[in-house]
This record gives sequence, structure tokens and C-alpha cells, in this order.
Amino acid sequence: MGWTTQVVGVRHALFEDTTLLVVARMVVDEWSRTPAAFPSVSPHLERWHLQWAQYAPGVVDLNLETIASSYFATKELLQLLGIVEAQLQKRGPAIPRDEMRTRWSIGDVFWLKDQETIPFLDTTRSLKHLLEPVVAPERGTFKRIKQYDLGECPSCEQGMVCVAKRSDGRLFAICEECEAEWVDLALAPKREGMLPCGAAHDVWPPLWPTKEEIINAGLSERVEESDDEIRLPPADETESAE
Ligand SMILES: [Zn+2]
Repeated sequence: MGWTTQVVGVRHALFEDTTLLVVARMVVDEWSRTPAAFPSVSPHLERWHLQWAQYAPGVVDLNLETIASSYFATKELLQLLGIVEAQLQKRGPAIPRDEMRTRWSIGDVFWLKDQETIPFLDTTRSLKHLLEPVVAPERGTFKRIKQYDLGECPSCEQGMVCVAKRSDGRLFAICEECEAEWVDLALAPKREGMLPCGAAHDVWPPLWPTKEEIINAGLSERVEESDDEIRLPPADETESAE
């Protein structure tokens, strides 16, 4: 039996490995029925099976820290944990040994007897407690947008430079990370033409173009379409320059 600490930001919790992995299997089992309903967390859950296939005590890593860096991935995982919790609540006091062996096998762990339901339920709730503050409302309102990327930012080398829109409908480019801006889209994302944040936008957060606007601006050949999530600041932080 091994124990592993799972960390999310400044919070952490200690988990018994095999119990944690059985809950992870239950989450993946639920997710696999309708993966399309969980687009943000899917890339992570697709890799979770490696954790029980290659199980080694004390080194379980469900990548919670990375999942928690995305509001939508966290929200989807919490939804799945809620379903697993409800299923466990409806079960009897123990999960039969045969079911443990056929459905919830972990590495070469050999389930000798029926397993009590309570530890799985407690683990599911601990995971929820670890993740719930990530989606707490005081962090602002999140919105999923279609993002049109022009390429990597030459300044921070981390963010993508994407097409944004002024209130008058004129398009400009902005780095999603460092907020460098380009008034002249022909120059984005080159260093030449790069301007500090505030040079191009007139409302904050900026507006985002529709696909039609991208096509009309003749940019469809130059952009990559991606899904992204943005955090809208609380209303009192929203500034609007005249
Ligand atoms: Zn940047």
C-alpha cells in the first residue's frame, strides 16, 4: 500500500494509491461513455489509464495541477466526480471482490476480498474539495471563445498572438500571455510592429472576432482556429476607454 500527496496550488491532500486509482478508474469509466461532453478534461483523462496500468506505489500522478490551470477542465472533472460520488452513495456497504477484479483492477494488485465502499466515497469527496476552490466564483467569469491564432509571440515566447477586435469593429492582434499588441495585422506576430498593451485595444477585455469577420478580413489562410477560455474580470475591474 502506498500513499501519494496530490497538490493543487497551495492545497494538498494525502491519498492511498489504490483507492485513489479505483476512483480515477470510475471517473474514466463515466467519461468514456460521452467523452465529447468533456472536451477540456479529455486530453488528461485519455492518459490516466497509464497510472493503473503501470502502477507503482507512491508515485501516482493524476496531473491535477495542470488540470486545475484550466477552469473548464476543472469544472468537467468536478462534474464527473459528482456522478461517481452519487453512484457510490447508491451502492451497498461493499464492492464485491469479483467486480473489483474485473472492473477496477490496478496494476498487479490482487483484490482478496470485497472492498468497503466508504474509502472510495471519502476519496471522491477529498478530490472534490481539492478542486472546488479553482472554480470559485470570485475568480471572475469565464467564457469559452473561438480563438484565431497568428503564431507564437516573439516577446514572451509562451503566448499565442490571436486576432481581437475593437469596439468599432477594427481587428488587431494581441498576445494572450503578455498582452503585446499589433495594430497592423500584416506585421503580427513579428517583432517588427509589436506594441505595448493598450496601443490597439479600446475596450478591456477586448472583443473577439467571429469566423465571418476573419474571412472578410482575408485572414482565413493565416490563422489557426483553436478553443480557448478567457477570464473576464469582475465588473468593477472592467475599464472602457472613450
Ligand atoms: Zn507574448
